[in-house]
Amino acid sequence: MTRRLLVTSALPYANGPIHLGHLVEYIQTDIWVRFQRARGHEVHYVCADDAHGTAIMLKAEQNGLPPEQQIANVKAEHQRDFAGFNVAFDNYHSTHSDENHQLAREIYLRLRDGIPGAHPGTLQTGGHIATRAIRQLFDPEKQLFLADRFIKGDCPKCGAVDQYGDSCEVCGATYSPTELKNPRSTISGATPVEKESEHYFFKLPDFEAMLKAWTRSGTLQEEVANKLAEWFEAGLADWDISRDAPYFGFEIPDAPGKYFYVWLDAPVGYMASFANLCAKTPKLVFDDFWRKDSSAELYHFIGKDIVYFHALFWPAMLDGAGYRLPTGVFAHGFLTVNGQKMSKSRGTFIQAQTYLQHLNPEYLRYYFAAKLSSKVEDIDLNLEDFTLRVNSDLVGKVVNIASRCAGFISKRFEGRLSAECAEPQLLADFIAAGDSIAAHYEAREFGRAIREIMALADRANQYIDEKKPWALAKVEGMDAEVQAVCSVGLNLFRQLMTYLAPVLPAMAEASAGFLNLPGSPSHGLAWEARRDLLLGHRIETFQPLMTRVDPAAVAAMVEASTDSLANAQPAAVATKAAGQSPQAAAKPAPASAAAADVPGVIGIDDFAKVDLRVARIVSAEHVEGADKLLRLQLDLGGETRQVFSGIKSAYPDPAVLVGRLTVMVANLAPRKMKFGMSEGMVLAAGPGGSDIFLLTPDAGAQPGMAVK
Ligand SMILES: [Zn+2]
Repeated sequence: MTRRLLVTSALPYANGPIHLGHLVEYIQTDIWVRFQRARGHEVHYVCADDAHGTAIMLKAEQNGLPPEQQIANVKAEHQRDFAGFNVAFDNYHSTHSDENHQLAREIYLRLRDGIPGAHPGTLQTGGHIATRAIRQLFDPEKQLFLADRFIKGDCPKCGAVDQYGDSCEVCGATYSPTELKNPRSTISGATPVEKESEHYFFKLPDFEAMLKAWTRSGTLQEEVANKLAEWFEAGLADWDISRDAPYFGFEIPDAPGKYFYVWLDAPVGYMASFANLCAKTPKLVFDDFWRKDSSAELYHFIGKDIVYFHALFWPAMLDGAGYRLPTGVFAHGFLTVNGQKMSKSRGTFIQAQTYLQHLNPEYLRYYFAAKLSSKVEDIDLNLEDFTLRVNSDLVGKVVNIASRCAGFISKRFEGRLSAECAEPQLLADFIAAGDSIAAHYEAREFGRAIREIMALADRANQYIDEKKPWALAKVEGMDAEVQAVCSVGLNLFRQLMTYLAPVLPAMAEASAGFLNLPGSPSHGLAWEARRDLLLGHRIETFQPLMTRVDPAAVAAMVEASTDSLANAQPAAVATKAAGQSPQAAAKPAPASAAAADVPGVIGIDDFAKVDLRVARIVSAEHVEGADKLLRLQLDLGGETRQVFSGIKSAYPDPAVLVGRLTVMVANLAPRKMKFGMSEGMVLAAGPGGSDIFLLTPDAGAQPGMAVK
């Protein structure tokens, strides 16, 4: 039976480039989609850029562009990168589109007012929107309400400086941004003020019973369903779906100056992209896939950090607005590289473009496939293992079968395979294996599928090793035998390429060309077509189908990614804030939005926040009762500051410091110490003890000069 499937990958956020972490999901989805198509099902794979929110508004401002231009530029880059990895969407749209505007409005109004004619007592009669005033921190300079991630200050629990508005990275405390000490806006640096504003809420608890049933109906992975059970236990809360102007997004109907929160219209973007596809495709009908009683299947592939949105808010929105629910939501884990978080300083924060400049995209597709399972587990890209595995499996095993057999067929038999199969049982085994390989693909157990396919490749190579066509070729009168063996080898290769085609579309296409398969390449490698053996069939001349991974190219890619540190884009604002992983769908996630752009890397604007000044040490003395500290009086060119500095062990005679120039942090918040106020910090290097070295500027520098 032909199934009708609509499949989505999460929408990438339109303010940054695609990197290898993102690609786990797009490659995973694309493989699954290609597999379903090879099985003869009707599949529509749609995606879009997620283009709304404060972060994008600020990014556009920072780049001096209108937001529409900003998102158009990023969208073009995203599409180029996806195409580079053979991720073949049927449609790639934007959440900043007419279709999305219309659908988001419609869903909202249905949640608020109900669906005309809805049966009384059901969830479709509206009343799911509430309003109430909330107090929030507001940037008086930017005239902007501040999301938690745009506020920094000192942790109210442990006093650690420079912590985000929702949680402390030092002690792990969570709090509300209004509790931060010395809060400041990360956008303008201004001290935020508390301000009240009317917000719109989606009453998620109305849907609790429906959600409890849906999450346990086989739509979610078990570990995700368990996570949801915890959330139900903790109790569902109303969801704040509005943001105040200025905001880049859609204005809420009948609420001037109020905008839909980016996460309200982001999943609607799946529908909008499909609506856009329907408008371009005769006979494809939107309602066939989205109406309440639709028999089509709807699948969302997502990262584990956005389960909340896809397994609670989204189905509730759909249900309340009278649409069908997803058939499955599939969450995957994050990507680590060489066992660690992706890191710019280690050169493992690799952008899609950087990869493509050095390596074949199918290497990565294969490696990810070999590692992916149906579980919500992180996967690791170990670059050494990557090189070894691709070379051993794809080049050493799979391509090797074809290259060992094709030459004889071309040179001695005018490209014609033998008319009968010399090893019917061996071929039958390979064909039969297709059923369990298909079951693994269907269940998203790609790693298992790959293991079975490679076991078959081993068998095929074993067969050729035993028959030794190269030896037979030297023996008079063994021509038919050579042709028979090589024909079996090439038929086995064709089986393998059928099974690998969802993972390696480019190599599959080249193989279909080489094997001269009937019909289009996708037709010749369709799953069922494998049952028809290639007998008396003419093939084309063999071309190398894949070259080995060059370790030097891998090293060059890592180096190029390390280099990008120097060109790190200025990040005046926390440009993304989704979970702890660098590969999260880069959008504000719920509570845990603590991650900066890249852990450990700051933009020039962050650096510029530190006011470093040349200072002259006017006096330096011991502090009674402190065995590590010196009390320094520093001349900043007119202004004198007192600083307590822990450098006594290296400068037991403080008098040597008097008159020297050094560098100080002039805008460090003053700190009250037992001995008095410390109004800044001097810079020194060294491991400690007597090895502490105060920094000194070159001669000519004057007290008060800014270090830039
Ligand atoms: Zn803390």
